[in-house]
Amino acid sequence: MSEPTSFYAQSPTPGDVSARFPDLHPAFEQTAAIAEAHRCLYCFDAPCMTACPTHIDVPKFIKKIATGNLEGSAKTILDANILGASCSRACPVDVLCEGACVMHRYNKQPIEIGRLQRFAMDALHESGAPLPFTPGADTGKRVALIGGGPASLACAAELRRRGITADIYDARPLPGGLNTYGIAEYKLPLAESLREIDLLSQLGVTFHFNTLVDAAKLAELEASYDAVFLGMGLGAIHKLGLTGEDMPGVTNALDYIAGYKSGEIATAPPKVAVIGAGNTAIDAANAAVRLGATEVTMVYRRGPEQMSAFSFEYEHAKQEGVKFLWHVVTAGLEGSDKLEALKLAKLETTADGSLVPQQGSEFTLPVDLIVLAIGQATHTEFLSGDKVKLERGRILIDRATGQTSNPKYFAGGDCTNGGREVVDAVADGKRAGIGIAAALEAN
Ligand code: SF4
Repeated sequence: MSEPTSFYAQSPTPGDVSARFPDLHPAFEQTAAIAEAHRCLYCFDAPCMTACPTHIDVPKFIKKIATGNLEGSAKTILDANILGASCSRACPVDVLCEGACVMHRYNKQPIEIGRLQRFAMDALHESGAPLPFTPGADTGKRVALIGGGPASLACAAELRRRGITADIYDARPLPGGLNTYGIAEYKLPLAESLREIDLLSQLGVTFHFNTLVDAAKLAELEASYDAVFLGMGLGAIHKLGLTGEDMPGVTNALDYIAGYKSGEIATAPPKVAVIGAGNTAIDAANAAVRLGATEVTMVYRRGPEQMSAFSFEYEHAKQEGVKFLWHVVTAGLEGSDKLEALKLAKLETTADGSLVPQQGSEFTLPVDLIVLAIGQATHTEFLSGDKVKLERGRILIDRATGQTSNPKYFAGGDCTNGGREVVDAVADGKRAGIGIAAALEAN
């Protein structure tokens, strides 16, 4: 293991892929940012701050933008949320801070908090200024963190600020988890995720890449560290369980998104079907459009009212030209060496509310590629025995401290909540970092 000086410098260059995925919400120009910052009412008991899972002091950072103190603004953001840059791009602000802005009460546009936050964070990154925090005095305590995504990164930052060694173990070759590999490029470019981690790394976090933590490795880590943080997220995307699912032309949304973000996938075939209707399914469908598919269809068992994707994501997909097939179930795959079509059947609701295929309703959708986005399995099989208590595969934690049923183990992010937003993982990691430090100090 050798620690690189810059992850950002190692970003794969995805050629023309980046040009096909311009920012969904373009960066503010300085004049526009300052004008927007002056629109803020700097509310006392600001509801935007309460709506943020990491409780960023929104009026304070916006006021600093208005007065030209961009470094101070970034410090305010980072103090609450060490991944403030990626959250400014990836957060569903319509349902969080901006959704809570008091401007709605006056029938005015909410303050563009996400874009202002990005403006302050971009300014810090571009200035080359160091992270405005330093590691705490060494306590001699050591923590192993499993998974290099947002929860572990946020936890590691809190630990380092308190003088605790933070060693992150990740199966991938680059840090960031879903921030780096799983969020659509037009929301959070891979390079931006790495640039943010470069800044955070100044606290002295150590990374062990290409390291799969199984039961044996976990036992080794447990024996040599004072505490273990579990932030490994979720596992593989579920399969359909149909014959032929392993043939070329069938993939899953996370591999698909990671593939184009790293430049390994540069084009899409003409006809693509995405199975599922969550936010990741939408990201995959939009990606297929931008990679050149001429007909992209999302296939879902229920109707638009039941889809788990946010309504603004649904609207975005419609604008991109994605088509939708509602109330259908996948009944089979056609093709031998290579996928040719998807067999579907219409669903109807029975008296007891269950969904069943309608007799004689089968039809065929010609496709060149199927992308599965029907939810992820949990990834806790390496927690053998009763290492920590689980509920339906999720790790049970004390929400205030992140501690599991095993006092040496803490956890946060998707492996505890089943898959929520990046900012929820950051909030979990932050709480756990503080919780671990308090527990180690008490010992
Ligand atoms: S609620 Fe809106 S106006 Fe009030 S502080 Fe937050 S962003 Fe500014």
